[in-house]
Amino acid sequence: MVTRSQPLCDTTTQFTTMQVPQNSVEAGPELVQNSGKFVRPPTATDIERILKSIRETGRPETVVDLSWNKPSRDLEFQLFLPKIEVDRKLRPDGDLINCPFCSPEHPKCLSFYLLWSSDGHLRVIGHICGRRFLGAGNFAALHADAKQALDRYANENYALTILPGFNQIIRDAEELLKASCSLQEVKRRFAKRMPTLQKVIMSMAKTHDGLLVVERRASADSNQGARTSLGGKQKFDIVPLGRLTGLGFLKRTWSPEPKARSIVTDLLGCVGGRRHQLSEDDILDFVLGATDAELANFRKQAQDAIGRAIELAQQIDETASFLSETNLKLLQGWGRHELNSFKVSVQLTSNEARIWVSQKCSCVVPLGSELRTPAFVALR
Ligand SMILES: [Zn+2]
Repeated sequence: MVTRSQPLCDTTTQFTTMQVPQNSVEAGPELVQNSGKFVRPPTATDIERILKSIRETGRPETVVDLSWNKPSRDLEFQLFLPKIEVDRKLRPDGDLINCPFCSPEHPKCLSFYLLWSSDGHLRVIGHICGRRFLGAGNFAALHADAKQALDRYANENYALTILPGFNQIIRDAEELLKASCSLQEVKRRFAKRMPTLQKVIMSMAKTHDGLLVVERRASADSNQGARTSLGGKQKFDIVPLGRLTGLGFLKRTWSPEPKARSIVTDLLGCVGGRRHQLSEDDILDFVLGATDAELANFRKQAQDAIGRAIELAQQIDETASFLSETNLKLLQGWGRHELNSFKVSVQLTSNEARIWVSQKCSCVVPLGSELRTPAFVALR
C-alpha cells in the first residue's frame, strides 16, 4: 500500500470555511479566545484517529485533541463527518456527553459531530446544536463540504490500497478469461457430442432435485417412496445413487467467456490500458491529480469489475465441479447400473475422462480440477 506522509488534500484551500453571522449570537458560557492545537483544520487522518479512539472508549473527554470551551461565533468553521453515535453502554454510569455549545458543564448528548474553528480548537458539537449554533443554511453548506471531503478521503484510500496490486488483478482477470474459454469449449464439445446424455441428466436432475437415480419395479409390499408411473398401472421405487454438482455445465445459455472479456476490458480501462506495474509516483500522481468525480468513477468501475470477477470465478469453480472425480464416478456407477437402461461408460485417468454413450460416440473431457481457476481467491 502507498502510505500518505502528507494529507492528500489541503482542506483549508479546497473547502469553504464559514463565518457565523454575529446577529445570531445567543447568551451562553464565557467565550475563550486562547488558541488550540489545530492552527489549520485537522486532516482526514487526524479525524480518523480521533473517531477511532472515541468509538473504542466511548469517552471523547479523554481525547486530548478536543476542547470543551465554547467558541466565539465570529470565527471560521469546518465540520467533519461522519456523525458519531456513542454507545451508552460504554459511558461511565451511562452518562451522556457534555456539549461545549449548549452544555459545557453537564451531560447532554450521545450523538455529535466534530467542528473545527479558526481559534485552533476542535470540539464536539451536539447534533442539534450544529444547526442551532451555525444556522441552518451554514450548517447545510458545511455538511455538504464535509460529505465531499469524506467521500474524497474514502475514494483516495481505496485507490491507494488497490492500485499497487492492480497489475496482479489484471493478470488474474486474464487467467479467468483463459479458464472461461477452456470451460466454454469443453461445454460446447460435450453438448455437441453427448446431446442425449445431456438431456437425460438434465431432465432427471430437474425431476429429482439434482439426484441421479434408477427405477426399480416396486414389490407388492413396498409402498413407501413408491410412485405410480404410466397411468397408474405400474409402480416403481426410485433408487437414488447420489447428487450431482455443477449442473450449470449442462446449461447451454451460460457463457463465461464474454463476461470474462468485459471484466478484463473494464479493469484495463481503470488504468488507461496499462498492463505494467504502476510505480508509487504514478499512483500518487493519479490520486492527487484526479478530480473528485474521476476518483469516484475509478472506484466504482474497479469495484464493479472485481465484484463480477469474483462472482465469475465462483461460477467457474462450481460449473467445473460437474467434471469432478466424484461426479464422474457417480455417472460411471449410474451408467453401468443394472436397472439403468441408458448405458454410459466412463473411463477416468489422472487428468481426464472419456465418456462413451455407444461404441461410436465418445467425448474426452478434462477433470474439473483442470478447469478451475485460482484467480481472485485472495479477494474473496
Ligand atoms: Zn449542544
